[in-house]
Amino acid sequence: MAKRQSTPKIKALVAGNWKMNGIGKQLGEVRKLASAINRKKPNADVMICPPATLLTRMAALKLKGVALGGQDCHADIEGAHTGDISAEMLKEAGAKAVIVGHSERRADYGESDKAVRAKVEAVHRAGMMAIICVGESLKQRRAGETLKIVKAQLRGSLPAVCIAKNTVIAYEPVWAIGSGLTPTIAQVEEVHSALRSALVRRFDDEGAKMRILYGGSVKPANANELMLVPNVNGALVGGASLTAKDFCGILEAYF
Ligand code: PEP
Repeated sequence: MAKRQSTPKIKALVAGNWKMNGIGKQLGEVRKLASAINRKKPNADVMICPPATLLTRMAALKLKGVALGGQDCHADIEGAHTGDISAEMLKEAGAKAVIVGHSERRADYGESDKAVRAKVEAVHRAGMMAIICVGESLKQRRAGETLKIVKAQLRGSLPAVCIAKNTVIAYEPVWAIGSGLTPTIAQVEEVHSALRSALVRRFDDEGAKMRILYGGSVKPANANELMLVPNVNGALVGGASLTAKDFCGILEAYF
């Protein structure tokens, strides 16, 4: 029997961000994941966002129950942008969604909220779902600025028109990513509740239906309690999404 969800009317999403990991031999992990999903039927949508080089190969597997996403895109449809990839290209390769504004991109490439917003618009233009990341640094948390920071990122990164079908928010405290650290349940609840209020104020009913994922060192051992926090509607998972065993361990929260 499927377990209780934190927000029963919102179907959860558990998305794996493979980052710059994965070559052909890791395709077996997605096959294993799909077969576990089809056996156990989680009460959540499941997605893998592999490196762009694996998208078409994963799509060619036609695995039931595992949607695919990109990890970033350029704001333009095409043009002289060496090394970049457009939302339309990701869609053609098999993506249904694109992660935008991940803290690693904000830090490594200086992506501003304005740049993130342009990418979200590109994802929407291509008819896909944007998974928009927000989150505070440890310094900002220690300074008591968490809510101010995430609300400002939300305001600046989201276009004027967003609907629940094409917009997912991921709260990812920067200091929790890949570190093994996680905020307390009360801290997660506080941020998700503030994000929900901001989304409802801005998008009314659509904001009430938007999924807000938690991301940052989610693993099998902590997934269940994190996924039961009010307004946590799934997870964005980095390291633990690389093996079917760990990812399925996280999905246990929804089996
Ligand atoms: C991420 O990079 O989006 C992430 C949540 O990573 P990890 O799960 O490894 O902390």
